[in-house]
Amino acid sequence: MTARVLTVLGATGTIGVNTLDVVARHPGRFEIFALTGATQVERMFEQCRSHRPRYAVMSQADSAAALRQRVRDAGLAVMVLEGERALTEVSTAPEVDTVMAAIVGAAGLPATLAAAQAGKRILLANKETLVVSGQLFMDAVARSGSVLLPIDSEHNAIFQALPRDFNGDFQQAGVKSLWLTASGGPFRQLSAEEIARATPAQAIAHPNWVMGKKISVDSASLMNKGLEVIEARWLFNARPEQIRVMVHPQSIIHSMVEYADGSVIAQLGTPDMRTPIAYALGFPERIEAGVSGLDLMGRQLSFEEPDHVRFPCLGMAFEALRRGGNASAVLNAANEVAVARFLDGAVPFSAIPDSIAHTMDALAGGAADTLDDLFEADRRARETAEAYMARVGA
Ligand code: NAD
Ligand code: MG
Repeated sequence: MTARVLTVLGATGTIGVNTLDVVARHPGRFEIFALTGATQVERMFEQCRSHRPRYAVMSQADSAAALRQRVRDAGLAVMVLEGERALTEVSTAPEVDTVMAAIVGAAGLPATLAAAQAGKRILLANKETLVVSGQLFMDAVARSGSVLLPIDSEHNAIFQALPRDFNGDFQQAGVKSLWLTASGGPFRQLSAEEIARATPAQAIAHPNWVMGKKISVDSASLMNKGLEVIEARWLFNARPEQIRVMVHPQSIIHSMVEYADGSVIAQLGTPDMRTPIAYALGFPERIEAGVSGLDLMGRQLSFEEPDHVRFPCLGMAFEALRRGGNASAVLNAANEVAVARFLDGAVPFSAIPDSIAHTMDALAGGAADTLDDLFEADRRARETAEAYMARVGA
């Protein structure tokens, strides 16, 4: 068996670390071509020492310089690159066959899209790529013949529960709807008033999953589920009304597919991202992930409707899908700004939905036929949301 040659975008993040954990369990099966990170020099250095990539990319020049020094002192044969161009280069290099796209936010879009255009096998964690540029990204995948494997646990579950040859035709496959499960996040049982004044520390304390800060806040606002609705629309060619959301606080059922004959096929497991990562790394084979087995004995699984009053962000994502054009890109950018300001302590939690609604009202509805249209929508939405945040901030 020849080794799969892998670039891991966002290697120093939660998904990146879990990816390298699975890779390390399979010596000889994977070869690391490149690892990328933003600013975490020490973690990247340790990853270089363990995984011996050919390239390591840091976003900032000072981080790259510090890493270069560490690598040289340790006598490692790793070439350190910097900046956004380098991300695209290590995602499209001819030696690479697989790209794990695990940068957080729209910052991950250019390199992920480039990997799709280059026909790489893409392990997609960076849901924001699909939220911002769903149509363009899926067109690029179709044109180049890329294999696209979802890492988001819900979409990975749906992928596993769909027929292997599913081509986006619900009718032909007898698929009625896709059920995305949501844990409900850390604020599931808080009142609207408590949610409005929740702190960053409360928001990032997720009950079931250990994740990066941005997606943790998204889980607390249910915007994460909103982004996942948009992600599902593009991955599986679903109409908005074919995508259902159900709160399932135990995060054991990762999502389900409902068929025309009444069958519902679900994927279950211990909540551990190494399962979807290993599924995608090994696809179509199943490989060891290091995940503890699911023990259902004596466990209660429960289900409830999402509460759109306390969690308005979910509805905003459905609204963005209905509006089409640039609306999802605007929604995503406004959310990224709001989450960053909330994490800085500059605005209350309630400013997140307020700012997104304000920015959507101001900007959603424009065309989004080209990548430039989308970048422009992203830029203007960030400006509008920042101005709103400055007004409501302390
Ligand atoms: P994280 O914050 O832990 O890691 C983000 C990674 O991206 C880091 O390596 C960081 O250095 C890098 N990065 C950040 N900003 C960058 C920039 N401007 N340019 C280049 N690199 C940059 O995030 P995470 O939890 O690993 O999530 C990564 C992606 O995976 C997100 O899109 C998230 O929604 C998705 N995802 C995560 C989980 C999870 O369990 N963590 C589950 C499903 C989907
Ligand atoms: Mg998810």
